[in-house]
Formats: sequence, structure tokens, C-alpha cells
Amino acid sequence: MNPTEINAAEIRAIRQENKNTIDSLRDTLGRMNRTIDNQSQRIRSLVSHIAGGTETAKCSGCKAPIVWLRTRGGKNTPVDLDGTPHWATCQQADLFRNRGG
Ligand SMILES: [Zn+2]
Repeated sequence: MNPTEINAAEIRAIRQENKNTIDSLRDTLGRMNRTIDNQSQRIRSLVSHIAGGTETAKCSGCKAPIVWLRTRGGKNTPVDLDGTPHWATCQQADLFRNRGG
């Protein structure tokens, strides 16, 4: 083998390794996405269960329907009906950001 042939073989080997790494990362990402989907689904059903027995409120900023949940720390926190903290999705979040500050 001349040096050029060796390099070409090495490059092929490295490319194959990279491909294997990427394939394995794709698998991992796929599993993580499925886990997250599953957990999101559980949170949604948990929140909708709570919301079923609770009156929904309206955000005073963007008027979106929200549910007030009490955290373990005893604070009331608004969440969207899918369980997302409302500050993460509120179009008017800037109105509240400095509240109490
Ligand atoms: Zn809002």
C-alpha cells in the first residue's frame, strides 16, 4: 500500500465510525423523545384531572385559560391546560416578570 491508499482506508474507517456514532445518537434521541412524550402525556392527564375538579381561570395578561396549582413550597403558580408553566407560553409574560420585584 502506498501512503495515499492507507489514508483513504483510514478515512473510510473514520467515516464508518462517525456514521455508527450518529446512528447510535439518533437511537438515543429517539428513545429520549419517546420518554419525554410519555412524560408530557402523563403531566397533561394529571393536570386535566386536576382541572376537571377546578375552575379554570384566565390569564390577566393574554386571557389564555390557566389553572392555578399550588407548589410544594406553598406558592400558587399558573399553568396552561397542558401542564406547561404559563410564564413559558404567555404572550404578555413581560407584564408579570417584575411582579413583586
Ligand atoms: Zn398569559
